[in-house]
Amino acid sequence: MKKKGLSCIIIGILLITILPIENEQATSASELLSGDIYIESIQPIQIIEDADTIVKNRVTVVRVIVQSTFTEEVNAQIKITYDFGTKTYIEKGVYGSPLVIAPGTNTIYVPGGPAIPGKPSTWNPYGFFKWTHTGFDTLLKAELDPDNFLEETDETNNEKLFGSIRVANSRLVKVLYVPVAFPGDADWSVSSSTMNRQEEFMLSTYPLAESKLNFHGGPLWRFSVSPSGSGTTLNNWLFEVVVYPIACTTRMMGFDRVVIVYQGYGRGSGRAIGILRYPEIREPVVVSPYMPKDNLVAHELGHTYYLWHPHDLGPAVYTDECYNVEEQEYGETMNTFMSYRDDPLWIDKGRYDHNPYKRLTPGTYYYAGDPELGIDPITTYFSGSTYSWNLMDQMTEIPPTYACIMVHGTLGNDGTITLNHSWYRIEAVPDVPEQILKGSQNEEYYFIMFLNENQQIISTFPFKASFNYVYHEDLTGKLEDAVTKTVPFIFNIPEVEGTRLIQIQNSDGQVLAEREVTYNSPNVQVIYPNGGEEFKIGDKIKIEWNAQDQDQDILRYTLAFSNDNGLTWIPMAFDIKETSFEWNTFDFSEGKYLIKVIASDGVNVGEDISDADFTLPKTKEKNHPSLIRVLNRLLDQYPFLEHFPLIERLLSLIRFI
Ligand SMILES: [Zn+2]
Repeated sequence: MKKKGLSCIIIGILLITILPIENEQATSASELLSGDIYIESIQPIQIIEDADTIVKNRVTVVRVIVQSTFTEEVNAQIKITYDFGTKTYIEKGVYGSPLVIAPGTNTIYVPGGPAIPGKPSTWNPYGFFKWTHTGFDTLLKAELDPDNFLEETDETNNEKLFGSIRVANSRLVKVLYVPVAFPGDADWSVSSSTMNRQEEFMLSTYPLAESKLNFHGGPLWRFSVSPSGSGTTLNNWLFEVVVYPIACTTRMMGFDRVVIVYQGYGRGSGRAIGILRYPEIREPVVVSPYMPKDNLVAHELGHTYYLWHPHDLGPAVYTDECYNVEEQEYGETMNTFMSYRDDPLWIDKGRYDHNPYKRLTPGTYYYAGDPELGIDPITTYFSGSTYSWNLMDQMTEIPPTYACIMVHGTLGNDGTITLNHSWYRIEAVPDVPEQILKGSQNEEYYFIMFLNENQQIISTFPFKASFNYVYHEDLTGKLEDAVTKTVPFIFNIPEVEGTRLIQIQNSDGQVLAEREVTYNSPNVQVIYPNGGEEFKIGDKIKIEWNAQDQDQDILRYTLAFSNDNGLTWIPMAFDIKETSFEWNTFDFSEGKYLIKVIASDGVNVGEDISDADFTLPKTKEKNHPSLIRVLNRLLDQYPFLEHFPLIERLLSLIRFI
């Protein structure tokens, strides 16, 4: 009625004058004996409507559809019982104004208020509901007018139970950004505002609890060789030389995914580089540093969770409604972020929790393309593997970890295996051995064998490798058949007591590579910095350590740092021969740091952490965010400018002025 909408602009005195009106309102409502209000439906919402599951510790609203047969607006409160009956909340309205129920259908989000799509700006969020247990909650309910202020013709229909909603634990997803540079490239880093926007979007669209998505900015990795070739040649080079060692290191440090940021990609483009090949390496994606859309990382990582484009392998769902609970944006229709359609973009139900598991068996598949976007139909050959379209299942299954040996190397199409790096014993989720299918084309099986001191096989891990793969280009949306001469592989294989030799054999039983597991693990001691030192941001610090091995094995070293007291270890270097490393701190933030050095004798590991932390105090502002913003806006408006190397160069330089 007349008070609606006044709420947030009324100042003190005005508030006092309307209070009596509120009382009058209550009496006038009681005169309206001609009507009834009742709850038609209730629905807990986190990201999409009608989700099969919600996740624990994520902001939630309950949408209540109220019907009123009164001929005028009436006031009523709504009481919600949630979190397995342990918590209640009464929606009373905002700033002292009562909750208004209009004649007919009312859509009310609690807490939050009435929502006709868009932000109900006059309603202040009172916080949101969160479930703190897991299981099936059968006690979720809404009660209308719980204290019976309003006289109705039927007082028995004011309560509605939801039924049953599954509440699941969300797993922890740790994502690391790693910018890369090549000879001749200036030092550069990914802007934190870019990372924040990508993280925010991913958190709003993935079924994860707020505290369970961790984005970390890693340091610049410098490679001593320059990229070569273009198209699939460049892709093969990047995968073997850049992506493979970074993927190994991030796997060792317990990251679920790594976003490798490569300046050579077209603006806003990326690739799930380790997917749709045998064997897959699921951790890495590669993206360009310029991300005009907030959904690029969610999209590329989506591929690593087997979400595909609607125009190729994915479910043909293009639109769904966005329920952004935190932003109080409810029910706006959007395209899926796995499509190439225009913004705004959101996750659709088909990819969120609804589509069943789908298994692709070997064969030729036809995909319809997207006529609206001009993406042609394609026919592609796929061999068997299990693809789950559901993001929900993948985000809520929390697999146990075991003591594993990370076995990795590079297969050559000439039948050889190159082991350029050490293996490392790690605590990790084991990889699943491949099921052996007979008669598939262009594929070969390999076997990683663990043998004991009597040369008896005590464990076998089969995997499949192919020098043909499906090349997924995120600029054109095409899937193409591609060929490579080398195939990197990384597997976490559960350790078996008594393993003395690890062999890799081909399907003819020929030993292609082997490595001895010696009796003793290496010892390593960090010498410098070892605690108490103080450096300036921009310093080049020479990290030094000592190491020994009783078996006289050749040792290699992997380095990481922590600035959260050892909770997270960010990789800096993988499997180097030297016993020192120059740490360039130009892109580091102030704080307290620890260094960890892991030594490997080929399989066994030993590690040491600096005895105490050392500090990088704040010295100068390293970013010029406004300049970067101006340049980025310029590039948004005139995308062709990105072809001018000067602009790119300028953009990378000004970050470090
Ligand atoms: Zn894509």
